[in-house]
Amino acid sequence: MKTSITVAWLMLSVCSVKAASPGVLVGDGRAQATLVLSGKADALAKRTATDLQETFRKMTGVTVPIQTDDQQIAGNRILVGQTQWTDAVIPQADRKGLGKEGFVLRRRGGDIALVGGGPYGVAYAASELLERLGARWYLPGPLGEVIPKLEEIRLDQLDVRQTPSFPMRWVGKDDAWNLRNRTNLISDPSLPPAYRILPGVYHTQARLIPRSIYVKTHPEFYALINGKRSRDSSCKLCNSNPQLPAEIARRMGEILRENPGTDLISLSPTDGQMWCECEECRKLDEPDVPRDQRYSRRQMILYNRVATELAKEFPDQLMLVGAYNVYTWPPKDPKIKGHRNLAVVICHYEDYCLAHPVNDPTCKPNRRYSELIAAWRKHTQHICFYEYYYKVNWLDLPWPIVHTVAADIPHFKKLGLEGLYTQYTTANIWSNFLVHYVAARLLWDHTTDVSALLEEFYKKFYVRAAEPMKAYHEALEQKVAKSRKHFPGGAPRNARAVFNRKLLAELRGYLERARTLAADEQVKARIERITRSTDYAERLVDVFRLRDVARASKGRQRVTLFRKALDQALALRKDVLTNRKKYAGVADGRYFSGRRMFAREIDKLKRDLKKAGGDE
Ligand SMILES: [Zn+2]
Ligand SMILES: [Zn+2]
Repeated sequence: MKTSITVAWLMLSVCSVKAASPGVLVGDGRAQATLVLSGKADALAKRTATDLQETFRKMTGVTVPIQTDDQQIAGNRILVGQTQWTDAVIPQADRKGLGKEGFVLRRRGGDIALVGGGPYGVAYAASELLERLGARWYLPGPLGEVIPKLEEIRLDQLDVRQTPSFPMRWVGKDDAWNLRNRTNLISDPSLPPAYRILPGVYHTQARLIPRSIYVKTHPEFYALINGKRSRDSSCKLCNSNPQLPAEIARRMGEILRENPGTDLISLSPTDGQMWCECEECRKLDEPDVPRDQRYSRRQMILYNRVATELAKEFPDQLMLVGAYNVYTWPPKDPKIKGHRNLAVVICHYEDYCLAHPVNDPTCKPNRRYSELIAAWRKHTQHICFYEYYYKVNWLDLPWPIVHTVAADIPHFKKLGLEGLYTQYTTANIWSNFLVHYVAARLLWDHTTDVSALLEEFYKKFYVRAAEPMKAYHEALEQKVAKSRKHFPGGAPRNARAVFNRKLLAELRGYLERARTLAADEQVKARIERITRSTDYAERLVDVFRLRDVARASKGRQRVTLFRKALDQALALRKDVLTNRKKYAGVADGRYFSGRRMFAREIDKLKRDLKKAGGDE
C-alpha cells in the first residue's frame, strides 16, 4: 500500500511537471527555454535578448541560451522581436495601434513572444516580463537593482498589451535604467532613436546658428548691444533679420535629412539676457507687459517665421520652441497664434512652485502656472514641460517632491499634454532617485497607483528595514507638501524651512532603526548612502542656520557666528572636494568650486564676516 502511494505521487508529479512545462523558462537547475532572435535582429533586439539572459542568470544562476531562428529549436522559446515563429503567437492584426513604442507580450503554448510597434516596444516588453518576475531598477547601478533569487522561472498566464501615456518621457540619462523604466532619452548612438529631439531640448540657438560659422559672415544675425553686433556667446539673435528664419530652417533641414524620424526639431534662445536692441526688433515687442512676457512677441514671430520656412520641405515636422524667463507667456497680441507645427516646451522654473502640485488651488504661484498652461493651449496644439525634478540651486539636498510629481503627471495627461524633460544628474541620485522613478512610471502609465508603487518600493528596496525607511521618505515628503512656503529650490533661502533640527532628528531616528533591522549587505549599503545624504543635508543646512542667526545678532557674537558658519562651510567644501568616494551619488563637487553655487555662498559669508568686523 505504501509503495503504491509513492508510485502514484511520483506519476502525479511527473504529469504536473509536463503539464506546467510550457511556461517554464528555467527549472530543475537548467534552462528549459531558448531566447530566439531573427538573423536580421537590430541592435536593440540583440541588447534586449542579452539583458533577459543576464537577468535570468542573476535570478537563477542558469544561462538561458540565445539562438537565431534559422535553426530548429527544441523546448520553450522566448521570441525577442520578429522571428519566423512570432506571427503564430501575435498575428499582425493584434499589433494595430501600438504606435512607435507600444508592445504586446504573450505566451501561447511553449512560445513567449515580445513584439513592439517600433524597436523600443521589444525592450519595454522585456522589462514588463522581468517586472512580472519581481525585478526592479530603482536607480542606475547595482545597488539600485532588485533581482529576486528564484529556483524556477515560470510564466503561466501572459497576455499583455501596453502603449505609453505620453510620447515624450525624457527622464534619466542612463540607457539601461531608461530602457527598463521605459523612458526615452537614449544616448547610445548604436541604438535606434527612441524619442528624438534635435539638436537638443533647450537653448539650441547656438547649435543652429553657431558663432564659429556666422559671426564673420553674418554678424547681423546676432543681437545689437550698445550699438554693436555682439560677439558674446550668450547674446540672442536679431529676430527681425529678414534672412535669419530661412537660414535657421535650412540648418534644421540639414539635421532632419541626416536624422530621419526626428520627433522634434528644437529652437530656443541662449540662457541669460543680451536681447537685440535694434529698432526693428524693438518694434516687434509689446509695451506694458510684465517681465515674463517682455520678449514673447518677438520670439513668437521668429518661431512662426522659421516654422513657415521649414514646412516648405517638411510639412508635418513638429518644431519645439521654448517658453522661459522673459518670454514665458505667449504674446498678449490676440492676432498672433502659433504655427500649426509648433510644440511649446514650458519651463517650470523659479517663478513657480515645485513644493506643491500644479493644480493645488492653495498654491498661488502654481495657480499662475495653470493660467500659463491655459494661455499656451490657446496658442499651440502641442505642449510639454521642462521640469526641475533635480534642481541645481537646491545644492544636492534631498528634493522630496514625489507628492508633486504624483499629482502633476496625471493632471498633465488630463489636459492632453505631451510629456516632459527633467534636469537630472547621477551625482546626487541617492537623494532624488525616487522622484525620477515615480515620474518614469507615471509617464509610461499615468494611472499607476503611486501609493501601491511606493509600498512595493519600501518592501523590495529596504526589505526588513522597510518600515523605518518608509517613515523616513514620508517625513521628508510631508515636510515639503505641508509647507506653506512656495519654493522651486533655492537652498540658501529655503532649505531651512525643510531641514529644521526637528526633522533632522526624526530622520536620524528612522535611519538608526533601519540600520539595526537591515540584514543583507545590499540593503545596508543603500541605507549607508541615504545616511550620507542626510549627514550632508545636516551640515549644509547648519551653515545657513548659523548664517541666519549671525545676521540677527550684534557685536562680538555676530563675528563669532559668521566665523563659525564660514569655518563649517569651508570644512564641508574640503570634505566634498577631497573625498569624492564618500560623496559618490550624494553631492556633486562641481558646485563647491570656482564661481559655482556653493562657492558663491562661501564668498558671501566672507564678505559678511568682514563687514561684521571679523578678519576675513
Ligand atoms: Zn534686432
Ligand atoms: Zn506652492
